[in-house]
Amino acid sequence: MNLLASKDNLIRWLDLLLHEHVVIAPVRVQGLTLFQPISKAEEVDLDFDNTTLPPKGWFLPPTETLFSVQRNDGQTKLVPAMVERDALIFGVRPCDARGIALMDKPLLQEPSDALYRERHARTVLVGLSCRQARPECFCTSMGSAPNDASYVDILLTEIEVGYIVQVTSKKGKMLLPESFTEYEGVLPTPPEPRAVPIKDVMPAMKGLFDDTYWERLADRCLHCSICAYVCPTCYCFDVRDYSDRGNIERVRSWESCQSSGFTRIAGGYNPRATKGSRLKQRFYHKLLYFPEQFQDIACVGCGRCIKACPVNIDIREIIDDLQQLEAKSGA
Ligand code: SF4
Ligand code: SF4
Repeated sequence: MNLLASKDNLIRWLDLLLHEHVVIAPVRVQGLTLFQPISKAEEVDLDFDNTTLPPKGWFLPPTETLFSVQRNDGQTKLVPAMVERDALIFGVRPCDARGIALMDKPLLQEPSDALYRERHARTVLVGLSCRQARPECFCTSMGSAPNDASYVDILLTEIEVGYIVQVTSKKGKMLLPESFTEYEGVLPTPPEPRAVPIKDVMPAMKGLFDDTYWERLADRCLHCSICAYVCPTCYCFDVRDYSDRGNIERVRSWESCQSSGFTRIAGGYNPRATKGSRLKQRFYHKLLYFPEQFQDIACVGCGRCIKACPVNIDIREIIDDLQQLEAKSGA
């Protein structure tokens, strides 16, 4: 049974949730919509297409200390990072929630990433269906939908009189207030994002590893790595140690396969020294290696990389090019 929350009741509920959780929600900041911790419900902006960055940073922060080693009076102490409080992420789009489910596959497989696992266990996701599809959206081609409730604990869908509330997990059920009433109406028809035919891309890629296509494409690429940082499914990071007067801190930060140092190994050899080999890696990982290992394409069709790329490199065009190239070579 679905529920109905009036807009006022939703605001009151959000304020109540703030007592027990760190609530992270879309907030308008200098013209951008970003997921930020809020201190009161009225800070939330629910009138957005999608946030500039996905919520992955609350599971895998852009930079975080993993542990520190402190030396005092001849004693050495290792202090691991801790997750302090339960969190609730409010207003997550269905594609981004699926992005977290995809990141779970590498990061929760054993040996799992301890901080990611802890944050995951202590976070509730409240999703928000999309009212419209942006020109760059293609989530339905990537296994999701603008009203997909599969990867959140609660999904809100806006209608004229408030929000339809679908509860999909025990975690979500435990948070519901009594003020929400039963809703017996139907769910609104979701918008239809652009379709991107993808069926033949995996077999096509197998034959195109050495194709000149990649170097030609990479001529345009600036290797700024923006595509990786805005992507809800990119999870690569770098780890560095910093020392200060005998104390050591191990820090990890987001890193991208587009950076020239990403695969450089001891002695200075770099197996992906050219721009083409690095750009190729991005698409092979998303469209072939990840599906081979985890049975899902590592793209949710959010379109952020398309919007953010300064030189208009468009994953939809690449998916199409690869299938056409392979079709021509087999003709
Ligand atoms: S955002 Fe565009 S230019 Fe920058 S690394 Fe990605 S594909 Fe290259
Ligand atoms: S559309 Fe781009 S940014 Fe979005 S999930 Fe796919 S690869 Fe990542």
